Amino acid sequence: MSDAELVLRSTRVITPDGTRAASVAVAGGEITAVLPYDADVPSGARVEDFGDDVLLPGLVDTHVHVNDPGRTEWEGFWTATRAAAAGGITTLIDMPLNSLPPTTTVDNLRTKREAAVRKAHIDVGFWGGALPDNVKDLRPLHDAGVFGFKAFLSPSGVDEFPHLDQERLERSMTEIAGFGGLLIVHAEDPHHLATAPQQGGPRYADFLASRPRDAEDRAVEHLIAQAKRLDARVHVLHLSSSDALPLIAAAKAEGVRVTVETCPHYLTLTAEEVPDGASEFKCCPPIREAANQDLLWQALADGTIDCVVTDHSPSTADLKTDDFATAWGGISGLQLSLAAVWTEARRRGHGLQDVVRWMSTRTAQLAGLGRKGAIEAGRDADFAVLAPDETFTVDPAALQHRNRVTAYAGKTLYGVVRSTWLRGERIVADGEFTEPRGRLLTRHP
Ligand SMILES: [Zn+2]
Repeated sequence: MSDAELVLRSTRVITPDGTRAASVAVAGGEITAVLPYDADVPSGARVEDFGDDVLLPGLVDTHVHVNDPGRTEWEGFWTATRAAAAGGITTLIDMPLNSLPPTTTVDNLRTKREAAVRKAHIDVGFWGGALPDNVKDLRPLHDAGVFGFKAFLSPSGVDEFPHLDQERLERSMTEIAGFGGLLIVHAEDPHHLATAPQQGGPRYADFLASRPRDAEDRAVEHLIAQAKRLDARVHVLHLSSSDALPLIAAAKAEGVRVTVETCPHYLTLTAEEVPDGASEFKCCPPIREAANQDLLWQALADGTIDCVVTDHSPSTADLKTDDFATAWGGISGLQLSLAAVWTEARRRGHGLQDVVRWMSTRTAQLAGLGRKGAIEAGRDADFAVLAPDETFTVDPAALQHRNRVTAYAGKTLYGVVRSTWLRGERIVADGEFTEPRGRLLTRHP
């Protein structure tokens, strides 16, 4: 066996070549080899044998709103990264808005990094923000190591992060494409939203009608057309409308550089089951009907949708009123994302290998995180140990995120995370956490 301080064994290790019994050798926080299960252990190496529990690469969640500093009462780095670690996530990339300041200048990025340091239980990176008036800040932010830039095509929900109109979208996209960066976009068209019925109140059907599919479809269509024209790389955030899938599939077939994510709540919850007044289910774009969900799963299976991320976007409980028009929009999913997706994936005949591809390998690729997203030599020794056939019932009191509001309360889910490992160190096991040892990541050139 090659160099190893630690050997992790399981009869089911998820590797890029398939799931098999293996011994994973770790030294200096890095995977040094993936060997047969019964390979000889070098003297002095510690062995952890997980038996039939599955060893999978730590998940990489590229869509998380931590809100720290500024709205830390909504969510902070300490609580968010504990929730993530408890759910098998070892890397997150923080969204540029809902914290104060937003991550839209190099100074603001510094402020964010200072807020995160020493509180991060997992590795944390940052997206920058593209605002109407910060085109001059994009290149410096890129050089300072943000992973790309988020923009909204419709109002974001917070005043300090205005959306881009078509002209400003083009200007930002041109700038970002000029230095080879990535633009990630909340794609809902403001004109279609403005003409949709805005009933307000507690009825979920009214909320759904206020965020129609065609608002997403037209925004995605426009984004694809611009990406093609400017030869830019774009990523569609939190796709909900299945009607946009043919446009995306066609663009990909044509070679347009577009990638797409969806979220656990679109894949596991349906409009039909949302109780009126239950704004813990509110997010934008909204959770849609069961038939829509079936098509999202098909698109994941055929690669039209690339990856699954949480869009964890909490607030304090008092902002989750029973009026869907005014309640805060955002679902808190960090700790439960793996179990929620796995539960539905297994019901639909997918394997854990697929879940790993959607939630770790592809998200790492999206962000250019070459050291994450797979169990193979040369990558960081980041793992989750999962009992995939064991179930648990979601108890909000057991969640680690700051405000224990959840759309999953009372659901029985498959997949218990036994422990999570970051660069060869066990950072949580059975609800016991070590001191934070996460690093702040920057984009590699
Ligand atoms: Zn978001």
